[in-house]
Amino acid sequence: LTRARDAHGARPALTFQILSGPKDPAETLSWNELHGRVTQAANLFRKLGIGPNDTVAYLLPNCLETAVTLLAGATAGIVNPINPLLEAEQIAAILRETKAKVLVTLKSFPKTDVAQKAAEAVKHAPNVQTVLEIDLNRYLTPPKSWIVPLVRPKTPFRHHADVLNFNREAAKMPSASLQFDDPAVDRVAAYFHTGGTTGMPKVAQHKYSGMIYNGWLGGRLLFDQDDVMICPLPLFHVFAAYPILMSAIASGAHVVFPTPAGYRGDGVFDNFWKLVERWHVTFLITVPTAISALMQRPVDADISSLKTAISGSAPLPIELYNRFKAATGVEIAEGYGLTEATCLVSVNPVDGHKKVGSVGIPLPYTHVRILRGSPDGFIECGVDEVGEICVANPGVFEGSTYTEADKNHDLFAEDRFLRTGDLGRIDADGYLWITGRAKDLIIRGGHNIDPAEIEEALLAHPAVAFAGAIGQPDSFAGELPCAYVELVAGAEVTVEELAKHAKKHIHERAAIPKHLEVMDELPKTAVGKIFKPDLRKRAIMRVL
Ligand code: ATP
Repeated sequence: LTRARDAHGARPALTFQILSGPKDPAETLSWNELHGRVTQAANLFRKLGIGPNDTVAYLLPNCLETAVTLLAGATAGIVNPINPLLEAEQIAAILRETKAKVLVTLKSFPKTDVAQKAAEAVKHAPNVQTVLEIDLNRYLTPPKSWIVPLVRPKTPFRHHADVLNFNREAAKMPSASLQFDDPAVDRVAAYFHTGGTTGMPKVAQHKYSGMIYNGWLGGRLLFDQDDVMICPLPLFHVFAAYPILMSAIASGAHVVFPTPAGYRGDGVFDNFWKLVERWHVTFLITVPTAISALMQRPVDADISSLKTAISGSAPLPIELYNRFKAATGVEIAEGYGLTEATCLVSVNPVDGHKKVGSVGIPLPYTHVRILRGSPDGFIECGVDEVGEICVANPGVFEGSTYTEADKNHDLFAEDRFLRTGDLGRIDADGYLWITGRAKDLIIRGGHNIDPAEIEEALLAHPAVAFAGAIGQPDSFAGELPCAYVELVAGAEVTVEELAKHAKKHIHERAAIPKHLEVMDELPKTAVGKIFKPDLRKRAIMRVL
């Protein structure tokens, strides 16, 4: 960050574009200002007793202070971002597990219950000594026309921790330099939890060096100081934190965060193309469900500045790739990563040959092996042979996963190669193809069905916005494929028509869904992945 300040000084670093009212105010920090704010916050955390092994947690929607806390927390100690969509008890469990001493969170704010959840969670996390509150009410003036009553607690928040105002306390601290030694690079600096797509989120440990490595990758391969990125993803997830925020620091690129007044992402996509025009965005990094949401809205602005898009975190259906290219003229480079590997693993070349449907080529200093188990241990698969994707890179280390329970699992295949639980193959040109996720596979009478095949076929129907396929329990076959869809707003289609469409587009007979259902809204995680545990519960309830 000091290097970014010296190189880019008064140029814009981060913009938080508040999507809350008719005038939609925006806050921009230059590299000088960001450096000063992060230094002050890191000095404050130290004053509050955060040493290199102590944890600063945050429970925040995307706002300027979120980025500041993420960077300052990792500088002073260990930062632990928490998803504000989790329930208070889950938040308390994470706070206890990571032994957080300080929690940075919101004061009451319209349309959010973050403050209430934080207070409730702190009650059950005796290790939290200080709560630093952020007053986002500056976003509420002006304009006043859309002010809605604050969500006020019935009784004042009461817990054992001291409550201080984050910005007021940080402003008292020196902004020019850290009041302590620079952090060592080979130490744990962050606890991130996984997306929780397959169950309860798992906590992963990241070293400072792994964070820097991810930033370096983005700065070297993807962006430069003339790029403007737009990030519709939450800053408690690795995808926004590393390939976007850390890469911006490494490259000097400007990042625009569309920030909803609430934290559920409402409204982020409504004026998205206008924001691309307003900020001359060149680079979009996002996830397939966000692309699908965008494709349901007309491209109603001049987006000629947009040159590149990257998608990751879930399979990108070819249909969606084609729709995006037709609507924007931009080709999406698909990439792959996971929280346990401190994020990035592979990406299609932004300027080179993209193989649509693959997740690209492993990044520099990242090694990918496709392994399969045998009685004699792991065997390396040949070209195009499917096995488990195993990864070694500077972000992966023995302690990558933190929880005691996970320590017993067989997480590493061989010398530092992390078992991802994802299935895939590497082709003759070195491109990685994901063919499924071990936990998500539908096993019908011993036959493996990749749910992505069913989802992709359904998404090819113009009325389908989102699709999720799972295995429903069956006493004879073990599991039967079952699919749920959410329709494009205003679209009308019968289940029979969708079933006919599925039959025509799914090549493997065993994969044709036995049950197909249209839901008003599919359950999704905070990064927009279809939340399959809920679909499985729904299927179980139906067949019980
Ligand atoms: P949990 O591990 O708690 O169930 P999660 O898998 O969503 O949640 P993340 O670390 O957010 O946790 O996501 C990483 C996973 O996302 C990968 O292991 C892989 O299954 C999937 N993934 C990432 N990129 C892609 C991609 N381009 N195509 C298919 N799957 C992807």
